[in-house]
Amino acid sequence: MTQIQTTTHHKAFKFRLYPTKAQELVLNEQLRLCRNLYNCALQERRDAYKKAGVTRTYYDQQNLLPEIKEALPEYKEVYSQVLQDVLKRLDKAFKAFFRRIKEGSKPGYPRFQGHDRCDSICYPQSGFSVSDKTAYFSKIGNIKIKLHRPLEGKIKTATIIRDCGEWYVSYVCEVEAQPLPTTGNAVGVDVGTTWFYVTSDGEYEPNPQYQKRTLKKLRVAQRSVSRKPNKRSRRRKKAVQRVAKLHRKVARQRLDFHHKAARRLVHENDVIAHEDLNVSGMGRGNLARSIHDVGWSQFFQILASKAECAGKKVIRVDPKFTSQRCSKCGHTCKENRVSQAKFVCLACGHSENADHNAAKNILARALPSGAKVSGCAMPSLRSPDHTALAVGQG
Ligand SMILES: [Zn+2]
Repeated sequence: MTQIQTTTHHKAFKFRLYPTKAQELVLNEQLRLCRNLYNCALQERRDAYKKAGVTRTYYDQQNLLPEIKEALPEYKEVYSQVLQDVLKRLDKAFKAFFRRIKEGSKPGYPRFQGHDRCDSICYPQSGFSVSDKTAYFSKIGNIKIKLHRPLEGKIKTATIIRDCGEWYVSYVCEVEAQPLPTTGNAVGVDVGTTWFYVTSDGEYEPNPQYQKRTLKKLRVAQRSVSRKPNKRSRRRKKAVQRVAKLHRKVARQRLDFHHKAARRLVHENDVIAHEDLNVSGMGRGNLARSIHDVGWSQFFQILASKAECAGKKVIRVDPKFTSQRCSKCGHTCKENRVSQAKFVCLACGHSENADHNAAKNILARALPSGAKVSGCAMPSLRSPDHTALAVGQG
């Protein structure tokens, strides 16, 4: 008997673009205009609030676009929805800012974008199409594209990205879920600094070595930049370029590794539990961890998106005390954790690798009710652009 699957999810496909010199000028100019618009709209919001205590909304600012185009005709050369998307992006930044204030944390005020930031423009709905060899964008034209893999599903958005002098397009498509066979296994995953993750089944996933090598090269390259104090020298510019390229390499390697690790977990398990990184006061507050957090949230986003596609479940649990609780008897105290690597229970004497013990606690916490679930069971919890980000970055 076949089951009818109606669940869809979003998947990003990124391809290299090969614009001509003339097209590159147009693209660079459009990025510049969008960055200016972003910064001016940000300034306007700040001024309106400071001088009059008025909060500008997305619609207030969108209504100004015709006026802007009259005053600055160069803005007529940018597709309207692309400009609207810039204002929406700013609106999102503000909404996130206010949400975090409400939650009681101290977020940074939305920032202005420097000349090397905001290196993408998004066609959120229409004004683009793609064929075998060319990608069409309204107000830009047909750009040569290399489709190294077939697009699937229905294209929803197209984002043109500039990355270290290279151009890419990322299409976010709506694709149908492809459920994987069930395995009957549920697993808890503890991410850490010693191991990339340790599962409750006792699987130790090492941090990738190749990335360490690139990071070493990156440090060398960064030193080379700081040895060249003259900001306008050609050699310094070259060294800066080398650093940027290595950063991109690290990001790509990490993304690739995250995809592979997530694929494996989703194939082998029906339910995957991990700590909810968004819960504040992790109780483990050390710097190394917070640096890794960035990478972990990308990994968890990829994991959630793959699980959703495969009909598997991801459960995020409260991370509190997962590293201090004995997985055998439940006794919880700080002294149980005798070292970074070792866990010895003061009550029952149970001794285990600390991360393995934590992974078991994470799984135990996921099994009773009350955890946040994402995956095919409750697709409404996964916002589409969240998924897009997870697959599209890097
Ligand atoms: Zn115990």
